Amino acid sequence: MAIKERIEFLRKVINEANIRYYVQDNPTLSDFEYDELFRELKRLEAENPDLITPDSPTNRVGSNIQSSFAEIKHKYRLYSLDNSNNYEELKKWYERVVKDVGKVELVCELKIDGLAVALTYNQGIFTRGVTRGNGIIGEDITENLKTVKSIPLKLLKPYNLDVRGEIYMPKTSFEKLNEENLMNGDKIFANPRNAASGSIRQLNPAITAKRDLSVFIYTPILDEVENAPKTHYESLLMLKDLGFNINPNIRKVNNIEEAIDFCKEWDKKRFELNYATDGVVIKVNKFAYQNELGYTARAPKWATAFKFPPEEVSTKLLAIEIENVGKTGAITPVAVLEPVLLAGSTVSRASLHNFDEIKRLDVRVGDKVLIKKAAEIIPKVIKYVESPEHENLPKYVAPTKCPSCRAKLYIPEGEVNLYCPNTFNCPGQAKSRLEFWVSKNAMDIDYVGPSIIEQLYKRKMVKTPADFYKLTQQDFMQLDLVQEKSAFNMYNSIQNSKNPPLSKFLTALCIRHVGKETADLLANHFQSLEAIKNASEKEIAEIDGIGDIIAKSIKDYFTQPYNITLLENLNHLEVFPIYKKVVQSNVLNSKTFVLTGTLSSMGRSEASEKIKQLGGKTSTSVTKKTDFVIAGENAGSKLTKAQDLGIKILNEDEFLKMISIQ
Ligand code: NAD
Repeated sequence: MAIKERIEFLRKVINEANIRYYVQDNPTLSDFEYDELFRELKRLEAENPDLITPDSPTNRVGSNIQSSFAEIKHKYRLYSLDNSNNYEELKKWYERVVKDVGKVELVCELKIDGLAVALTYNQGIFTRGVTRGNGIIGEDITENLKTVKSIPLKLLKPYNLDVRGEIYMPKTSFEKLNEENLMNGDKIFANPRNAASGSIRQLNPAITAKRDLSVFIYTPILDEVENAPKTHYESLLMLKDLGFNINPNIRKVNNIEEAIDFCKEWDKKRFELNYATDGVVIKVNKFAYQNELGYTARAPKWATAFKFPPEEVSTKLLAIEIENVGKTGAITPVAVLEPVLLAGSTVSRASLHNFDEIKRLDVRVGDKVLIKKAAEIIPKVIKYVESPEHENLPKYVAPTKCPSCRAKLYIPEGEVNLYCPNTFNCPGQAKSRLEFWVSKNAMDIDYVGPSIIEQLYKRKMVKTPADFYKLTQQDFMQLDLVQEKSAFNMYNSIQNSKNPPLSKFLTALCIRHVGKETADLLANHFQSLEAIKNASEKEIAEIDGIGDIIAKSIKDYFTQPYNITLLENLNHLEVFPIYKKVVQSNVLNSKTFVLTGTLSSMGRSEASEKIKQLGGKTSTSVTKKTDFVIAGENAGSKLTKAQDLGIKILNEDEFLKMISIQ
C-alpha cells in the first residue's frame, strides 16, 4: 500500500475507533492496538510532513461530540497526552525538555484510566462539570457529577477555581455492574473506563447516582488564585487541602531515570489497586518551565505518559474446548487462544463461562477475540473483534454429548449450564467428585490427592466415595510410589473422616447448587441427615437463603436411586455425619467482616467459621456495609477498597484479640 493510502486508511480506522470509544463507550479495538495504529500514523506523518492535514487525529483531542447533553465551550482548553510504551522514548522526551529548559524536577503520577472532566467552582461552590469532549467543546454533565460523592460540592476555601480530574469506576463495582447487567440482559461494558464513561454520561442522573463512581483530581487552573503555588507538586497539596480527592501514589523525582523506576514499580503493583491505571504521567514540576515548554496542537510538551503493557488484548480464538467435567457434572467451555502477553503473563486459555455466554457473545472459532484480566481473576473473553471474516465463520455449536463418557447432556430447568447425568459412571465427573470428597471444605481427608485418586480410579479400586472406606493399608501400598508410612497415613486419614459435621458431609455430596453456605443453612435448620432426606421441597424452600431452584435440586438428589444407594453404602461402612449444635454467641453483633490476604494463624474458612460462631457475618466483597476488613499478608484490592471507603481495617493481631476476648 502506498504511504498516502496507508495514512488515509489509518486516519479512517482511528476516527471510527474514536467514535466507538469516546461517544459510544463500545470500543472494538484494544487500547494497545489503537495506540500502535496511532503511533504508526504519527511516524508516517513525521516522515512525510507534506501529507499532514489539520484534521488528522494526531492533531486533535478525543472525538467530536455526538450526544444529547448541552455543549459547553471550555474556558481553558483540555489537552490529551503524548505517550510511549518504552523507556527509550521517555528518555528522548526528557532530552528535549533538558534542551529547552535545562535539567528539571519531575512529578510522577498514576495515569487513571477513566474519563477526563473539568470542574468549575465559584466562590468555592461547585457550579459546573463538563466532559473533555474534543478539548474545546465538552458535554455539560453537572447534574450527574453532583451524584459522585468524592466531588466536593463546597470547597474548604471560597476559591474561584477550575480543576481537571478523572472519573473512574472501582474494579469491584465494575465487575458487579457487569454481573447485574448480564443477568438483566443489559449492556456489558468492556472495561471500567467504558463503564465509568457510560455511567457518567447517562441522561438520567438517577441512574448515574446508582453507579459507584469516584474521582481523582490531578490539575488546578490557578489563574484566579492569589499566592498560588509555583509547582505542580505543591498545587496537588493545595487541592488536597481544599477537600479534593488526590491519588496518593505521587512522587517527586530528580530525573528521568527515577521516573522510570516509578514506572517499573507500578507496572508490577498496579494490579493490587481497585481502580484501573493504564500508565504513569510524568510532568515537569515547575509551572515556569511548563509555560516555557508549551503545547503541541494535541498535548503539552511538558508532560508525557508511559503506557503499561496492555491488560486487555486481542488474539485469535483457536478452539473452544471442555476443560473437564465438574463435580456436579457441569460442562464448562474454555477458549483456546493463540498465546498472547496479558498483564505480565502469557495467556493461552481464557474463560467463556457457559454455552449461553458463547451464544450471547457469538464468538466463533477463527475470530479475533478481546480478552482481559481483571484484578486477581483468570482471563476471560469479552467479545469478538468485528471483521468481515466473522460472518463467514461457522457459528459455534454446543456439544450434545459428555466429552468424558459420551452420555447425552441435559440442561436442568431454569438453568444455562449443560450437565452430564452420569455421576460416578462418568470418569471425568467421578474424578472431580472424588477429589472434592477428600477436600478441606468437604470430608477433609489428608494425604489423598488427585494423583492417588487417579490411580485408585484407574485400577478400579475406588468408584464412589464409599469405596474409600473399604481400602486397607495394603491396598494403598500397591500404588505407584506409595511407601508403608504414607499408606498408613492415607488409610488413617480416611478412617478418621467417617463422622464429619453434617454441613461438611452435605457439601461433600456435590449436590448441584449446594456449596458450603447452603449446606450450613440446611444443617442448622434440619439438624440431621434423616430430616433433610425426609423434608419436602416446600419445607426446604422456606429456609431463608434457599430458593425454589436450590430446593428442587436438593429434593431431586435425595430421591434419585443412585444417590440413595450411595448413602446406604456409606452408612453400612459407618460413614455418617454428626450434627453438633454450635453454641452461637452474638458478641460480634451481626457485624460484617471481609477477609483479604493470608492469615498466619488460621485459614480463611476457619476464620469465617469463627466469625459466624461469634455472631458475625462474612462477605467476599467490600461495600459501604462492611464493618471490618481483616487484612492478612499480601492483602489485595479489597484492602485498597476498604481504605477508599474508610472502613475499619484489622490486622491479624487485632482480629485475634477481638475473637479471643469474646
Ligand atoms: P490518554 O488517555 O492516553 O491520556 C490523556 C488523558 O489522561 C487526559 O485527558 C486525562 O484524562 C488522563 N489522565 C489520567 N490520569 C492523569 C493524570 N494523573 N494527569 C494527567 N492526565 C491524566 O489520551 P486520550 O486522548 O484521552 O485517549 C487516547 C487513548 O485512549 C489512547 O491512547 C487509547 O489508549 C485510548 N483509545 C482507545 C480507543 C480504542 O478503540 N480502544 C479509541 C480511542 C482512544
